[in-house]
Amino acid sequence: MSDIIRRDPRAEWIARNRLHPLHAAMQPAQHSWMGPNGVIRKNPHGIGFIGPNGIKRIDRSGAQQGGATKRSAAVEVQLPLHQVAAPAFYISVVPDMVGGRLSSHDRDLLGLAHQLAGKDGAVLAVVFGEHKENAFATAGVDRLLVLEGEEFSGYAPEQRVQGLRAVDNQFNPRHWLLPDSRSGGGELGRRFAAALGERPATRIWQVKDQECIGRAGAGLQDLARPLARLILAAAECAEPVSETRHEALPVELSTTVARSLSRIEDLGAVAVDPAAIPMAEAEFIFSGGNGVKDWGLFHRTAEALGATEGASRVAVDDGFMARDRQVGASGTWVTARVYVAVGISGAIQHLQGIGACDKVVAINLDPGCDMIKRADLSVIGESAEILQALIEAVEAYRNDAKRDAA
Ligand SMILES: Cc1cc2nc3c(=O)[nH]c(=O)nc-3n(C[C@H](O)[C@H](O)[C@H](O)COP(=O)(O)OP(=O)(O)OC[C@H]3O[C@@H](n4cnc5c(N)ncnc54)[C@H](O)[C@@H]3O)c2cc1C
Repeated sequence: MSDIIRRDPRAEWIARNRLHPLHAAMQPAQHSWMGPNGVIRKNPHGIGFIGPNGIKRIDRSGAQQGGATKRSAAVEVQLPLHQVAAPAFYISVVPDMVGGRLSSHDRDLLGLAHQLAGKDGAVLAVVFGEHKENAFATAGVDRLLVLEGEEFSGYAPEQRVQGLRAVDNQFNPRHWLLPDSRSGGGELGRRFAAALGERPATRIWQVKDQECIGRAGAGLQDLARPLARLILAAAECAEPVSETRHEALPVELSTTVARSLSRIEDLGAVAVDPAAIPMAEAEFIFSGGNGVKDWGLFHRTAEALGATEGASRVAVDDGFMARDRQVGASGTWVTARVYVAVGISGAIQHLQGIGACDKVVAINLDPGCDMIKRADLSVIGESAEILQALIEAVEAYRNDAKRDAA
């Protein structure tokens, strides 16, 4: 066979065109290799892809990182344990814990904390109230401080600031990291900065060479400033921890937290119409595609679940859903914690739009379709039967809950 390397212009064009259905298949699977001098080389551009607004998005399914391995599969692998017996200093992270669990934004922050902690420092996560998380160790938490108590639950930023001040007095962390989010971190971080009398670095998306770079000027400019003690970081500010396991050793406060004189009274959550939530902000999306045969049943199921409705482009083009409900490359890029895809095949343009979703559930007739490959949980079967069963299960669950409460 000839040694001449022949170029395939069509394959090269597909590899450049991220909207082409075969684009993913044309990407080199290898993202790190041994260089000529024995040093491992990494291609940072091989991970993630550039979103429509020019921001790098990371495909958390792991599909782009070489194969069909999903995050759940990665957890089963026994990762090397990173231990810090006597921490030289602490990097404190205050995760948002939306729904009692670490969000992908929280995990990015823990990744950034490890960059700052190096080998000698320990990452201390400060969590308020009850949580449901059991993956602190694999997310990169070396020490875990849970501030329990009724006074910290609900919307209690003043009391939480008091808690953080007590942590600051005891552990004196080298850096404080909070998510610059609307789920609590943005406000809490600014209040805490005011209480400490420190100037926080806000909307930070990169930390390197003792500098932190944040977005400014309505997101159009970057502002670099010396590394601040208190950092409010944006999502995707760093790669989440994925190659090590951590101790997540529980630690406690040695002092009691002073009660703040609350000027805020939390009257509880207000029910909102899921349809009124913008797609980009929705936490729970129930999306329909060409495989939905009974749209009335689809809407009833979304209502029973209390989910925001989404759709594939085919469902929108066929007139079953409004244009602003379209998810995907030419629709909205969503970041839901749970995304349910009913009768959606998983075309690359659709998968691009759900790349940042935490958990994907697929309902489909075809076990070999790409949506099933992407999904964390799949239900194979006729969509109408499954939706009907889902409504019945939700009603039975609610009735049981009502009976128990009575
Ligand atoms: C430039 C460009 C931009 C695009 N942008 C987008 C975009 O932003 N968003 C988007 O979604 N698409 C987009 N598309 C279109 C995309 O390529 C696909 O055509 C589209 O996503 C397919 O939609 P679908 O999965 O609903 O339909 P289909 O591909 O027809 O898939 C239907 C699925 O339903 C399953 N099914 C069928 N019957 C049943 C049943 N009774 N029960 C359960 N399952 C069933 C089938 O097994 C199949 O997997 C774009 C295309 C182009 C060229």
